[in-house]
Amino acid sequence: DSLGIALVGLGNYATYQLAPALQKTENCHLAGIVTGTPSKEQVWMSKYDIPKENVYNYENYDEIANNDDIDIIYVVLPNFMHAEYTIRAAKAGKHVICEKPMAISVEECEQMIAACKENNVHLSIGYRLHFDPYNLKVSELGQNEVYGKVKKITGAHSFKLNDPHAWRAKQDLAGGGPLMDIGIYVLQGAIYTMGENPIEVSAKYGEVTRPDIFKDVEQSIDFTLKFPGGATAEATTSYYDTANFLRGEAEKGWWELKPAYAYSGIEGETSEEKLTYPPVNQQTLQMDDFAKCVMNNKKSKVPGEMGLRDMKIITSIYESADKKETVKINW
Ligand code: NAD
Repeated sequence: DSLGIALVGLGNYATYQLAPALQKTENCHLAGIVTGTPSKEQVWMSKYDIPKENVYNYENYDEIANNDDIDIIYVVLPNFMHAEYTIRAAKAGKHVICEKPMAISVEECEQMIAACKENNVHLSIGYRLHFDPYNLKVSELGQNEVYGKVKKITGAHSFKLNDPHAWRAKQDLAGGGPLMDIGIYVLQGAIYTMGENPIEVSAKYGEVTRPDIFKDVEQSIDFTLKFPGGATAEATTSYYDTANFLRGEAEKGWWELKPAYAYSGIEGETSEEKLTYPPVNQQTLQMDDFAKCVMNNKKSKVPGEMGLRDMKIITSIYESADKKETVKINW
């Protein structure tokens, strides 16, 4: 049994990661595409053997409801379009994988979850690192207190954004800057290390050295999360340098992944050993797992509720940076 997936938005991530990953999946396959760029249609149809009937654009997207080849819609559009295209997919009776960040506000995330519930479809978020063995090891080390209680987590995720026209640098299209896009991985890392939600955040925007690009989203932001048992996570994320790590310090040992959030080539060590796992395709595992969840009517381990949770924390991080004060997260 294999479920059909339609990719919506054929940008970089869909083209260079998801479509190739779908060539290796067992429980699902690339069955259709939704694109606003007519020139991409023929290229994708011939490259992936997609029939014309399974090719849609943003206008006739809702007609996908009548297409039995397509079981799952994967939303890979700029962040501000996630809510609309997820809700329309749910109304078409299709299960949904939506890319991170889930949407650009808490309200949108809630509407997406409600729409999927009402239409009886499964919803998951593209949190691929929950399928990476190194990051899974970090969850185990932290949550099982292998080296005792976790005291401190540190992490960073940054890259250089040089294009002043990028949607990632526009508040209305991205919903925020590097925090929404890549800082979210450090936030996730801190939570799966702890196995519980933070209660409090404090955050501070960095200096803007490229005002030509960063007119309305932050260029960088540092944030500290406080967990119920007193552990803290200190994170930094920016669009002006490169950084990629996640570290945990516990009572009797430590661990570090560097790079931590990459598609491949993650490396890790602990105070006791070097970590080595065979390479995996994270997206292949992620999509196969979701297809299995749909087949068995089981909730995904990266569900819409997790996307909503992260959006609540992100909102509190921005609130803290804006007000320049510590903010209790309103659960
Ligand atoms: P991209 O800019 O490469 O692609 C975006 C696509 O959306 C393009 O094909 C573009 O034509 C289309 N689009 C439709 N309407 C648009 C509009 N109004 N403005 C701009 N583009 C429009 O972006 P991407 O890197 O592929 O990211 C897409 C989504 O995937 C984002 O939400 C991003 O956060 C997510 N993503 C996730 C991962 C991951 O590892 N899980 C990695 C990269 C991107």
